[in-house]
Amino acid sequence: MLLRLNGGRVLSLTHSQAASTGKARFSSGSIARTAGPSSYASAAETSTSAAARGSSVASASLPTSRIDEKKVVLGWDETKYSRYHHIWLRDHCRCPECFHPITKQRLVNTFEIPPDIKPTRVQSNPEGLEVHWPSTQPHVSLYPWSWLRYNSYDPPLSQPSNTEKILWGSKILQDPPTVTYAEAMAEDNKGLFKWLSHVDKFGFCFVSGVPATPEATEELSRRIGFIRETQYGTFWDFTSDLAKGDTAYTTLALSTHTDTTYFTDPCGLQLFHLLQHTGGTGGATLLVDGFYVASILKELHPDAYELLSTVPVPTHAAGEPEALYTPSTRQTPVLKHEDGELVQVRWNNDDRSVIRNLKPDQVEPWYDAIRLWYKLLSSPDSEYWVQLSPGTAVVVDNHRVLHGRSAFNGKRRMCGAYIGTDEYRSKLAVLSERFAPDPVTKDTAASASVNGRSVWHPAL
Ligand SMILES: [Zn+2]
Repeated sequence: MLLRLNGGRVLSLTHSQAASTGKARFSSGSIARTAGPSSYASAAETSTSAAARGSSVASASLPTSRIDEKKVVLGWDETKYSRYHHIWLRDHCRCPECFHPITKQRLVNTFEIPPDIKPTRVQSNPEGLEVHWPSTQPHVSLYPWSWLRYNSYDPPLSQPSNTEKILWGSKILQDPPTVTYAEAMAEDNKGLFKWLSHVDKFGFCFVSGVPATPEATEELSRRIGFIRETQYGTFWDFTSDLAKGDTAYTTLALSTHTDTTYFTDPCGLQLFHLLQHTGGTGGATLLVDGFYVASILKELHPDAYELLSTVPVPTHAAGEPEALYTPSTRQTPVLKHEDGELVQVRWNNDDRSVIRNLKPDQVEPWYDAIRLWYKLLSSPDSEYWVQLSPGTAVVVDNHRVLHGRSAFNGKRRMCGAYIGTDEYRSKLAVLSERFAPDPVTKDTAASASVNGRSVWHPAL
């Protein structure tokens, strides 16, 4: 579900939560809505209605259950069924014998389950599906309805998405996502959740009121997670002295790019903070939403979009004598997709290596495609220019938002850090459990939580 805010046209939207946020005012056109998933408590619902639905399933009309040769068949209503293989159900038992309630690791020996295992009896209870296993390995399992529904694979049932991305263009300057330093550092973690939710939604977020010191900025970075150490150091603090063999360490303008395209796993988040700029001008920061620009490219030039999504682009970092980086996988197109959905933008024309993997008749179309991409990236509709000043840090999702800067003179001191995608996603997931739990977690929290986490958490 991608909401596009600049042109007011919407690509696809499976729920309408975004339309009710304050950010909707960026939209200059109408926001179209498509129907959200109706089969399950969608993320657009309020917590009370989702909870009410969960309890109404439990009390009023229980799903039906029966056993056939290979599968247990659940009837959600007269027309909708889900089937679960016997072996699958047995393997996913979450009783304390089969699944460690604290470590959340599997204990059942999958390979001791007879391949032809079949329940002797199933029963629909208010709490969930009760399954009795045969006397050769006597056992009773209980699976919550919300969990069964969430994990239905035969057929897959539509799910509420726990992420929504709001695509933005230059108009974001009217009200860019921002939290205060006090919010980000507050012990109750509410502000931290707000901060990371903004990053998740917009791909970047400012933090205002940060003390203009490397110490405070490093402490702020570590609120999110471990700092990812690279050839540029752990927490970096630099000026334009070419201390490292990279154009970032010069006064040159940098066109929009993502960082570390030459890593197998490019750095996830980048946090940076301008600590000082004296005796000169320039050095404005440029941010561009790669997902927004990609959405426009896809609409206007689908062939170019296809090439950028399929042609791997070799990259390198070779400015340091003791380092020579290239990604381990050749499968690194500019636009990376998973299940048809754009998940990562990887683009730095300066770090591009020899492209020799093109078929002869692809060479001109590919150059046309990157020319179109560059033109859209650098259009006034896409570019968000901001003059940063000491006290305002910014976090950028390096898998989505490109950054750059204008040339400058004088002395400019920047500090910052990279934080791995996994650390950021883990922190956001933990905070979401607490401040915005998904329907399955909410439904099972009371009965199945040990150490604050349900054994039925959708991530497990
Ligand atoms: Zn068990």
